[in-house]
Amino acid sequence: MTKHIFVTGGVVSSLGKGLTSASVGMLLEQRGLRVRMQKLDPYINVDPGTMSPYQHGEVYVLDDGSETDLDLGHYERFTHSPLGRESNYTTGQIYLKVIEKERRGEYLGKTVQVVPHITNEIKNAILGLASPDVDVAITELGGTIGDIEGLPFLEAIRQIPLEVGKENCLFIHLTLVPYLRAAREMKTKPTQHSVGQLREIGIQPDILVVRCERPMGQENLEKIAMFCNVEKRAVIEEVDKTLSIYEVPQGLVEHGLDKLIVEKLGLAAGPLDMDEWWDMLRRIRNPEHEVTIAVVGKYIEHRDAYKSIYESLDHAGFAHSSRVIVKRIEAEELADQGPEVLLGGVDGILVPGGFGMRGIEGKIEAVRYARQCEIPFFGICLGMQCAVIEFARNVLHFNDANSSEFVDSTNHPVICLLEDQKTVTDKGGTMRLGAQPCILDEDSLAAWCYGEKEISERHRHRYEFNPEYKSQFEEAGMKISGTSPNGTLAEIVEIPEHPWFLAAQFHPEFKSKPLAPHPLFRGFVEAALKRHQSRVQVGL
Ligand code: GLN
Repeated sequence: MTKHIFVTGGVVSSLGKGLTSASVGMLLEQRGLRVRMQKLDPYINVDPGTMSPYQHGEVYVLDDGSETDLDLGHYERFTHSPLGRESNYTTGQIYLKVIEKERRGEYLGKTVQVVPHITNEIKNAILGLASPDVDVAITELGGTIGDIEGLPFLEAIRQIPLEVGKENCLFIHLTLVPYLRAAREMKTKPTQHSVGQLREIGIQPDILVVRCERPMGQENLEKIAMFCNVEKRAVIEEVDKTLSIYEVPQGLVEHGLDKLIVEKLGLAAGPLDMDEWWDMLRRIRNPEHEVTIAVVGKYIEHRDAYKSIYESLDHAGFAHSSRVIVKRIEAEELADQGPEVLLGGVDGILVPGGFGMRGIEGKIEAVRYARQCEIPFFGICLGMQCAVIEFARNVLHFNDANSSEFVDSTNHPVICLLEDQKTVTDKGGTMRLGAQPCILDEDSLAAWCYGEKEISERHRHRYEFNPEYKSQFEEAGMKISGTSPNGTLAEIVEIPEHPWFLAAQFHPEFKSKPLAPHPLFRGFVEAALKRHQSRVQVGL
């Protein structure tokens, strides 16, 4: 029988509930259990695909094409849980289902209400994870206790133990114990209040994971346990990790969280096997090299907008025992100040995905600089489209070359709308999305990195390389090294004359894991490292 773990959060948002949930999933997997992860998001958008990165951070794309919350990225990086549409529900999706049922007349004349109709639909979403091949389903609830929109979700998870048995459910609540500098004291009151609110709803947490800046000491721990009605050993402190998010599981293991969960749920688990992970942590803590990569984008000040890209760069660094220093560069600033000022001294340049015109000229300048100065370059999605535009303008001398996303009237639309996007009008969920097969040219940098000829990568775009220009590009030195199986869509371009210049229409960052870095990121960081070392040798 599948057991259920619910992870809620209190006091403030951004406590790292996603990371904690992912870490719990990983610890249970490393004890031989089969885990499924899920996130419930109380906002009304059907999915985050229509939200600005400023609002929401990155939109994480799954193989099945669903556009999901970035916490699912943590789930994939930490666990092997298969993820799909059923792994992320929003209020919008739940209401949509209920309203569609109502229109079909499925409620047989009843008044359709939040309780029980919406809450039943939420319960279906949760219980849908249960199956004979799943030992533990972990459901993380987005938002913070006290949010009005979270209430139906809390009510639904309150009811689950009544259906599947109390002994098969576990509630983990994540809170914050702030340190007040003026009082030189850590404050447990907000935690008490947030647990109080949960208990009012009828949920008594079994375990509290308490985020704090510094160890909070026995006294505070005991106080929290007593006021929150939680066993003392079930108050787990999670002190801020400054070096890497991959240290989070270690703190949880040290405080016995895996043992506690296994015991409380009566799980038949094996011993914890973290050897590979601890070995990776040693490499993270003692890097032998250092390399600087510039990421030139337009949501640079938002830490989560390019989350998976930053993670993937780190993963590649772990593989090469190297610390990757990311220099985040605002594309518009680069256009104003020039690439020499902002990119001088970097070992590699990455232009990530994006939408809309703002910052485009700066990104194109970054590509030109990387191409002409032979700096390793990696373009992703819009980054590839910028690489194509740059090549068209500066090598093929099509001065007005552009993407028809930005300038419709250009004489040289080297990037144009995908054929099947031409009739699309709705914005939500209508891009070319999810895993697509790609065939690699055997004699290419891409094939060398992957070590195979056929790959599958995730997409999220509406525009493509205009196939009419293929031969002109190839003759001038930019080759298409990866295509869709029928050969029509250009998925990867590269410049064989350059030390490392590769750009992909897909998003490799969604498939990189700390213990299995993505081959393209690995290759890119390796090339950047080589450049760094050769520059050090000549004293630059
Ligand atoms: N805006 C571009 C397109 O839709 C690139 C999308 C992206 O980078 N994800 O094709």
